[in-house]
Amino acid sequence: MDHEEIRRNIERIRGEIAAAAARAGRDPAAVRLMAVTKTVDDERIRAAIEAGVDMIGENYVQEARRKIEAMGRDVPWHLIGHLQTNKAKYAVRLFEMIHSVDRPEVAKELDRRAAALGRSVKVLIEVNVSGEATKRGVAPQDLVPLARLVSTLPSLSLRGLMTMAPWSEDPETARPYFAALRRRRDEIAALNLPGVVMEELSMGMTDDYTVAVEEGATIVRIGRAIFGERG
Ligand SMILES: *Cc1c(COP(=O)(O)O)cnc(C)c1O
Repeated sequence: MDHEEIRRNIERIRGEIAAAAARAGRDPAAVRLMAVTKTVDDERIRAAIEAGVDMIGENYVQEARRKIEAMGRDVPWHLIGHLQTNKAKYAVRLFEMIHSVDRPEVAKELDRRAAALGRSVKVLIEVNVSGEATKRGVAPQDLVPLARLVSTLPSLSLRGLMTMAPWSEDPETARPYFAALRRRRDEIAALNLPGVVMEELSMGMTDDYTVAVEEGATIVRIGRAIFGERG
């Protein structure tokens, strides 16, 4: 896929986001577009950056480390993949935001590593709203305790929630899961935990992002609709 095609894809996605936001009475500027770049080569990532995506999302810490060295941080990099505690020390250096906090051990280790750098790191809690065994994320019943824990960790700043809806041919299938994530976000916001700003809903991918925008997404994470099928 060449640069021109990537640019056109991003333009089309921006249009779809704006239309979905309008249907929901939302400001399209409240929705940020993340290019998800797992397995994507540097040239195509550069094309997406030039075309004006708001952020880059990486699944793997090591892959991100190399790419960030090559490409710099003019556009912020976010971690969206599963995080092992032994990678926390790299993650706090590399990423503007970490979307995949899903258990106390990871939260505590990120806090310890961020504190050592004298830095505050923005995080989202990943929630397994569908309860599918194959999906990552904290179980819905463990979300509030985890949010309370994160709020006590001085070097982490909890900004919202992230989820992946179950895959389906029909994007409408995802709607109840996105609506559930929004309700959980509002519920935690209502707890008024110290230092917690529940502004972000990271939800919606290639097959379901317009529904996610209708349900309140503030970050959509898109790979294939920008770069084509992954090889
Ligand atoms: C790969 C991935 C995406 C992007 O998926 P597409 O279907 O290619 O848009 C979004 N979020 C996460 C967590 C991913 O792993």
